[in-house]
Amino acid sequence: MALNILIVDDSPVMRSFIRRVVGLTGLDIGEICEAGHGREALAVLGVRWMDLVLTDINMPDMNGEELLRHMEQDELLRTVPVIVVSTDASVNRVQKMMALGARGYVTKPFAPDSLAAEMERALEVTHA
Ligand SMILES: [Mg+2]
Repeated sequence: MALNILIVDDSPVMRSFIRRVVGLTGLDIGEICEAGHGREALAVLGVRWMDLVLTDINMPDMNGEELLRHMEQDELLRTVPVIVVSTDASVNRVQKMMALGARGYVTKPFAPDSLAAEMERALEVTHA
């Protein structure tokens, strides 16, 4: 079944880069949606089923951590795997996001292969 992916990042350049990488994974990709911050992401998630969310942390309006908290509080959304894609490589931040429910963490800048590998790993857990 084709996978719907939601890319959440306040940088349009980063969103289109991630979109291209997603297209190169070889995974069966359905719809790719984009959001500029957490609030926009929640609006998309409210109307469309997404199989995977790739989210930045530092964004205006609602950041990635708040997005994750909101998703974890929702019975349905908490089942959607989230991979954090951030410039913040500090151990504290990574541990905090994983403790909040993130399924994976990729540090920017990243090689396309590392995001692809993280996506496959996150989705495998889901289908296990
Ligand atoms: Mg950002």
